Amino acid sequence: MEEHIKTHSWLPQGIKGRTRHLPYRLFFSHLLLSLAIALPAAATTPQKVVDPRTQAPPSLKQMATGSQETPLPEEEPILKKDTATKSSLQLLKETIGPGTKKRIFWNLGYTFEGVPVSAPVLVVNGDSAGPTLCLTAALHGDEINGIAMVHRAIDDLEPGQLSGAVIGVPIVNLYGYRRSSRYLPDRRDLNRHFPGSPHGSSAARIAHSFFQQVITHCDALVDLHTGSFHRTNLPQVRADLSHPKILELAYGFGGVAVVHSEGISGTLRRAATEIGIPSITLEAGEPKRLQLREVNQGLKGINSLMKKLGLLKGAKTESVPKAVFHQTKWIRTHRAGILLSNVQLGEPIKAGQQLGIITDPITNQETAIVSPYDGRILGMALNQVTIPGYAAYHIGIKANKPRTTEETSDHVAAKHKAPDYSDGEE
Ligand SMILES: [Zn+2]
Repeated sequence: MEEHIKTHSWLPQGIKGRTRHLPYRLFFSHLLLSLAIALPAAATTPQKVVDPRTQAPPSLKQMATGSQETPLPEEEPILKKDTATKSSLQLLKETIGPGTKKRIFWNLGYTFEGVPVSAPVLVVNGDSAGPTLCLTAALHGDEINGIAMVHRAIDDLEPGQLSGAVIGVPIVNLYGYRRSSRYLPDRRDLNRHFPGSPHGSSAARIAHSFFQQVITHCDALVDLHTGSFHRTNLPQVRADLSHPKILELAYGFGGVAVVHSEGISGTLRRAATEIGIPSITLEAGEPKRLQLREVNQGLKGINSLMKKLGLLKGAKTESVPKAVFHQTKWIRTHRAGILLSNVQLGEPIKAGQQLGIITDPITNQETAIVSPYDGRILGMALNQVTIPGYAAYHIGIKANKPRTTEETSDHVAAKHKAPDYSDGEE
C-alpha cells in the first residue's frame, strides 16, 4: 500500500488535471468566488443542495417487477438527469465547482482521546451535467483492494471527461482500517447498521452520519468489498436483479460474475436501494491483502459502468457479465480439522465432485467434502483449520436448472427460510 499511495498520489494529479483541462482564468476565478462566498454568503444566499430525499423517488420495492428475467431497456439512460449535477456540488459543507477535483473530509467521530477522526472524500465534478456515481470502500477496515480501486479510479478521471460527478470514499471505516480490523471500536460491523440512527449505538451513529451526509447525494452506488476471515471471492457483482435499474448497473459493470441477492438488512447497499438509489456491491479477493489482479478487474468494471451511465464522454462500450447466478449455496464443513482444497476459485464443478479434504490433526483421518451441486466456485475458504459449520465453499448454482435434490446434511448446513449468508459476508 505504501508504494501504491506514493505512485498514485491523488491530490497532485488532481491539480495537474485541473490546470491542464481548464483555462487558468476560469479555474482561479471560480476558486476565489467559491472561497469568497462559502461562509459569509451562506446565511443570506443559500445555494441549492441537490438532495435525492427531497425528490421523493419512487420506492424501489414498488418499482420492482419481481421478475428475474426483466429485459434491459434499449439505449435508455439508467439514471434520470433530473437529479443530475447541474453546476456546483454541495457536499460536507464544501462547494465543488463544475470542472474541478477536490479532496474533502467526512468526520466520522472521535478517538478515545477526543480527537476528531476524518475520512477523505474524493470528488470529481465534471464540467457538464450528469448523474453522481459514488464509490465506497473499506466499510470493513481490513478490506484493502477497494481502497486502491477508489484511488485509482479517481486518479484516472479528469473533470473535462465527465458529464456528472464521481464521489469516492476510499476508507469509510477508518477506525477499523487503523487496527486492520473488519469492525468498529464497539466491535460492531458497520455494514449491518445502515441507514443508522443519530441516537443509537456508535455504529448506528457513524452509519447515519455517512448515509445522510454522503450517500444521499448519490444517484448510483458501487460498494467495494472482499471476502472475510481467510476467505477469498471471485470478483463478482452482487445486486438485487429484481429491480431493472439495479440489473442494468450490474450488467453495465460487466466482465465479472453477477450474483442476485437482495442484500442483508443493514448493509449500505440495501439501505441505499431502499431510499431509491440503485446500488451494487463488488466482491473481489481477500481481506488484508492488496491484490493487483482483482484491483484491475474492479477498475475495468467501474470504467465500463461510468461509460454505461453516460458519465464518461465518448463511445459506449458493450460490457457483458461473465455469468449470472440467481441462486448460490454455501457448503459448510462437517468435521473439525485442517482444510485442504483441491479446487480453485472460479472453477466449474459438478455434483459429486470432491472439493477438498478435512484432515483430523490427531488421527490423520481424512474426510472428503463433496459438492451436491453443479455450479461454479464463487468464494472459498483458504486452506486453514476449521470446525464443523465453517463456510468453506460458496457455489453459484448453474442457471436454467432445477434445484438439486442431492443436497444432504453431510454437506450443507440446515436450510433456513432466510438466505444462508456466511458469517462476515459483504
Ligand atoms: Zn466487506
